[in-house]
Amino acid sequence: MTEKLHDPDILADAADWRARDLAVLWHPCTQMREHQGALPLLPVARGEGAWLVGPDGRRTLDAVSSWWTNLFGHAEPRIAGAIARQAHTLEQVILAGCSHLPAVELAERLLALAPRQRDRDPLAKVFYADNGSAGVEVALKMAFQWFRNRGDEPRRTKFVALENGYHGETIGALSVGDIPLYRRVYAPLLMEALFAPSPDAYLAREGQDAAGHAEDAADALARLFDEHPGEICALVLEPLVQCAGGMRMYDPVYLRRARELCDVHGAFLIADEIAVGFGRTGTLFACEQAPADARLGGSAGVQPDLLCLSKGLTGGFLPLAAVLSTQAIYDGFLDDSRERAFLHSHSYTGNPLACAAALATLGIFDSDDVLARNRATAARMAELSAPLAAHPHVADVRQRGMIVAFEMAQNGDRRTPFAAARRTGLRAYLHALERGVLLRPLGDVLYWMPPYCVGEDELALLADVTATAIGAATA
Ligand SMILES: *Cc1c(COP(=O)(O)O)cnc(C)c1O
Repeated sequence: MTEKLHDPDILADAADWRARDLAVLWHPCTQMREHQGALPLLPVARGEGAWLVGPDGRRTLDAVSSWWTNLFGHAEPRIAGAIARQAHTLEQVILAGCSHLPAVELAERLLALAPRQRDRDPLAKVFYADNGSAGVEVALKMAFQWFRNRGDEPRRTKFVALENGYHGETIGALSVGDIPLYRRVYAPLLMEALFAPSPDAYLAREGQDAAGHAEDAADALARLFDEHPGEICALVLEPLVQCAGGMRMYDPVYLRRARELCDVHGAFLIADEIAVGFGRTGTLFACEQAPADARLGGSAGVQPDLLCLSKGLTGGFLPLAAVLSTQAIYDGFLDDSRERAFLHSHSYTGNPLACAAALATLGIFDSDDVLARNRATAARMAELSAPLAAHPHVADVRQRGMIVAFEMAQNGDRRTPFAAARRTGLRAYLHALERGVLLRPLGDVLYWMPPYCVGEDELALLADVTATAIGAATA
């Protein structure tokens, strides 16, 4: 391998790589103009643990887990092996009318692991889609059609989502998202959703704690439900962390309140755990962290009616989404009429390779005590990030499990962000890339969301580079 990397042909290729790329590729979520200027493209020839390796052998730490997908490192051999074995057995088959074991086994395993509330019927059925956005579309359409099929509440057609939330880029998913940069231009195409104030602790009033702010946001959600009696079919939210919205975090008490409000008002709760699922926030699913209701003496955790999973589901190897639903929702589509069926499909629904990757990923959770290791890693991340809270241009350092975020602001307070034109986040990105760390910020928020296999030396490098990147970007 090393020998091959120093092959002069490959080095020549690397020099040529960017030009070839820019001649033919249109990159996601990118102003392509920037790649003609200051923003370099990072050529990646292979991955190794938490590292990306360029054609010239140059190593870059993948501090954002390749858009939050990777869990156990790049080219993880157990997952790679499972995909290879599956590829030699059954690569794909139509899932309408046919069945294959990887899809069945994965559904069984996901349902067994899903968040559960003792006083509710458990999540009982799995519908597959190809990516996170498609999974959100599935959940929205299921919630809407369930009421349509029942026919007795014709006005129940609206969705409630949270301000600053993100659920994907397709038109339906974008409609329940509230990030102006992604949404504004398409606004005329979007369906109308209702937005409730975010429980985001960063927005707490002076002197108010995260739980107090979450309670206030829940009160506002209650008023929104009251203003639209019998009109709301579902509430969709990202449990605990609004990731694309700048890794904004909120108190788990909000999940408890949201669950109760949905029940009181007869609406479904859709939990979008596409980014936070699979151990990212400290528990296997973020919904598990909702506190018990002291008055009802219940147990901790909330169970959604629809749970959307993707990203880490395959360990970061292949696109796949799973939407878990209750038996009651599933039963609402059983009928003599085909029109009452859920006629949604994707060509690759339940792709066997992706299911095999997901099964191997869940196998690693079984064999490696991932959550315990993550707890230790998260504690180390807390120690290493703490000193940055004192930086004069850092307004907030926040953490939930394996996610740490640094909010850069002009005066180090919550009221004076840097002017957008200053491109503070981009400056930090360029600095970090120069030093061998891929820290792709969200606006002026830098964050750590490393693969779970990240080690002590890598975390130390990450902390060091983050400190100098913040220094360089805010100077
Ligand atoms: C990434 C993400 C999505 C969309 O998933 P894609 O696979 O990128 O379409 C939806 N919801 C949340 C919370 C996400 O972070």
